[in-house]
Order: sequence, then structure tokens, then C-alpha cells
Amino acid sequence: MYKWLKRGRVIVSLTITVLITLAFLFFSNRDNFFFSSLLKYQFIPALLGVFTGSAIILALLVLMSLLFGRLYCSTICPLGTLQDSVWRISSLFRSKKNRRFSFSKANNILRYSFLSVAAIPLLFGSSFVISLLDPYSNYGKISSEIISRSEQFIHNILSSVFPDTIFFRSYSQFIAISFFFALFFLLIVIFMSAFRGRLYCNSVCPVGTTLGFISKFSAFRPVINIDNCNKCKLCVSNCKSECIDIENGNIDISRCVTCFNCMTVCKRNAISYKLVWGIKSENEKRVVDGRREALLTMGLLGSFVAARAIGRKSSSIPHESENGIAPPGAISVKNLKSNCTACQACVSACPNGIIKPATGEYGFDGLLMPVLSFEKHFCGYDCNVCAQVCPNGALIPHSLEEKKLTQIGQVRFYKEKCIVVTDNTACGACDEHCPTKAITMVTYNDEGLTIPVVDRDICIGCGGCEYVCPAAEKAMIVEPRAVHKLADKPKVEKQEKVVVDEFGF
Ligand code: SF4
Ligand code: SF4
Ligand code: SF4
Repeated sequence: MYKWLKRGRVIVSLTITVLITLAFLFFSNRDNFFFSSLLKYQFIPALLGVFTGSAIILALLVLMSLLFGRLYCSTICPLGTLQDSVWRISSLFRSKKNRRFSFSKANNILRYSFLSVAAIPLLFGSSFVISLLDPYSNYGKISSEIISRSEQFIHNILSSVFPDTIFFRSYSQFIAISFFFALFFLLIVIFMSAFRGRLYCNSVCPVGTTLGFISKFSAFRPVINIDNCNKCKLCVSNCKSECIDIENGNIDISRCVTCFNCMTVCKRNAISYKLVWGIKSENEKRVVDGRREALLTMGLLGSFVAARAIGRKSSSIPHESENGIAPPGAISVKNLKSNCTACQACVSACPNGIIKPATGEYGFDGLLMPVLSFEKHFCGYDCNVCAQVCPNGALIPHSLEEKKLTQIGQVRFYKEKCIVVTDNTACGACDEHCPTKAITMVTYNDEGLTIPVVDRDICIGCGGCEYVCPAAEKAMIVEPRAVHKLADKPKVEKQEKVVVDEFGF
């Protein structure tokens, strides 16, 4: 039976990981409902999105851990599957002896330190540290920066060989710090898992530590039947969590990831996965102690959610120092900084490729969070994809009607840089490409030239004018709004003039 459970687990984990990876590869320009729903089943997105529709998902994940232990870690978490794959591949290059695991004591000081360092700033409205440690978000960065770029590179080589059959794909903007962070994280995880299996999970990962606490209360768990065990240690040498203390007949349930390896390899049926709730056993005291810890964890989780609810109320207070334009749906830079884990789903999904990981626009605590750049394109008037794919509630989904009135920034016109002034020539590209007609051309001189005037209350900051402005130094620059607001509705007679052209308005 355990062989089938293990096979089922492996199939589910590989399927979820492949689907998540495909999401990052092919988000853009597709119907994202399935993929974006999939991302919401990750633990940190469910926790951070608890006020934006993910409360039931969080409850399901906690319930799953209460019933089956850390099954999340062996099936749903893509970083967990990545670590198992690395271990499996690396063991092909090692002797049988070197492939074995041995029991190690839990490094609780390290685990709790990482958990505290990640959780405390979250309480005070900063998701920066969790963005560096969260397994899903780091897998997202790896998918977006390493896997997706590699796929695009191969794709584009094929497109140059077969230009009539394969289209060229544009690369997303290359931000060195984001690429090297993803590479660095990947190398660390590869190194840890190649030598010590789930070492990251059981010493660094804040999700693993939290679920480990909850699992101490789990109904089903692996149990050693001491009467059947001859201490051959086959289970110990196959336990990638290094949590089987066979000498004392104990399994550290807080580190067990419910992979079923030990039960599969034991030839004497000395380990079974069974219901322990309500059953009197010699381990009963340990189980009861575990329950206390688990209840404490769930109490802390509840207090954490309540404290964040209070913190959310102040997310509309502006931070005037920010100089990055947050994507539509962010509500405010403060809201972004307190919910975004820089997973880069929105970066991958933006069909116009204008979202890039921030390098300093929001300050240090906003590093790698999404920021708009109008160098290569502008924000599509009929697009609200980024907010749809964000699993964390850092970008709140909104209708197209709402999006069309959301002011993420306001353009400022620098008359002295406009080519009508510098070159005494006709232009008006900005006016033509403004979807809300916040720009009007008025008489400039007797030669019949006209010059733009901006109605900043109608401007939504989409960047269309900034992008098309032909001046060497742009005469139209969108200034960020630290707190997004509703723009005034475009005047009807001006809306009628909007031209739908090849720029996609
Ligand atoms: S411990 Fe963390 S990284 Fe490991 S599988 Fe669980 S959630 Fe993923
Ligand atoms: S709404 Fe704008 S920023 Fe968001 S995905 Fe669409 S084009 Fe990109
Ligand atoms: S805003 Fe973008 S990077 Fe941040 S959590 Fe949402 S999808 Fe991920």
C-alpha cells in the first residue's frame, strides 16, 4: 500500500511543479484563470491573501497538515519537489554508501530564528524578509529568471533557424540583481539538497517550521512498531528529513515531510502511517506535548492574521519618498510592500513586458518587488492581467472598468523638452496615444503649431505618452502615486476622439 501512496505523492508533486513552472513560462497572453488559481494554493500566498479571498485555502492547508502532517511539503510545494529531484539526480553520481542519510538532531534555534526573522517584519507591514525565504516565491524567481529565460533563449535560436514556423519571443527586461539572486538561491538549494536532502526545509524554510509545529497535532503520522524493528536502519538511511531516531524509537514529526520513503523500504513492516488521535500509546506523553505546541502555533497564526488585519487599515497612508510606479491593483506602495513576496508572477504575466523587479525605486525593503517601466512599452488600457495573477493580494483583482480609472501615476509635461518647442516642428504623438484623452493639443504659435496641455485629474499614468514621446529627453514623464486613486472620468466628447490603432488602445 505504501508503494502506491508514494507513487501517488510523486505524481501529484511532479504535476503541480510542472504546472507552476509552465505558468511562469506561458502566463503572458493566455487565459490565466487555471494557473493563477494554482498559485493561490501555496502557503504564504494563502496566508497573505487571507483578506482577499484566500481564507478558505489557508484553512484547507492547515486542515491538511492537521490530518496528514507535512503533506504540503511533499506534494504542493514546488521547492520541495525541486529538492527531491536534485537529491535523486545527484545520488546517481554517488556510491550507495554516500547516498545514505543518517539521523540528525533538529536545529531548532536556527529554525525558530529564521521563522521569527521572517514573521516579525510581516507583523509590522514588511514582506521583504519573507520574500527572500518563502519557498514558492523563490521558486517563482527561479522559474522567471532562470527557467523562462533559458526557454526563451532556446526558443529564439530555433526561431532563427526556422523563421517561418517559430516566432521570436521577447525577453523580459534583464535586471541583474534579480537574476543573480535567483541563481544564488538555486545554487544554495541545490548544494543543500544534494548532500542533505530536506536540509533547507528543516532548518531555513519558515513555512516548513510553521507546518512542522502544526503537524505535531496531526491525526495520521508514521509510527515505529518497536516489536517488529530489528534496527537495520534502512528507514533511517532513506529518510531525506533525517528525522528517524531509531535508537529511541522516535520520529520527529515536526520534520517529517510525509514522503512514505521509510514505510516503503522497511522489510519488516515496522513503520506504519496510522491514526494516532485518541489512541493510548507509550508515546502518548510526547503526542500530548506536541498537541499543546500545535495549538499554540495555531493560536499564534490566528493572532498573526488579526494583527495584519489591524495593520491593513493603515495601508492607505502615503509614503511620499517612493519613486516607483506600482502596478495597477497595488492600491498603495505600502500595501505592495506588506503583501508582495516578489514571486514575479506579475512580471512573467504582463503581456507588454513593462513590469520589472525593483532595484531601489521603493527603497531597500521593496527590493525585487514589481515596478513599472515605460522604456519598452506602456500599460495596456484593456489589460488587468497582473492583478489577476497575483496570488498574494499584493495586487487586488479589479474589473477593466475600475482599471481604466485607476490612477497609478500622473504625467508631468516638460514643455522645454517637447520637440514642438525645441525643433519648432509639429508632433502630438502623446495626444494620439492617450487612451483617456487627458492630453489636448492647443495653439502654440502663429505657424499653426499646437502643443500639449495635460489634465492631470483624468490621467491614469499608463505611460502611453511617455513611451511614444519622440523627444531625446522625454517631455512627458509619469510621476508615481504612492497611493493609487480614482481618476476623474474622461469627458465624453473627448472619449469619442480616441483612436484605436496599432498600439493597442
Ligand atoms: S519545508 Fe518549505 S521548502 Fe520544504 S517543502 Fe515545506 S514549504 Fe517547501
Ligand atoms: S495592467 Fe498594465 S502592468 Fe498590468 S499586466 Fe496589463 S499591461 Fe502589464
Ligand atoms: S505583486 Fe507580483 S511579485 Fe508581488 S506577490 Fe503579486 S504576483 Fe508576486
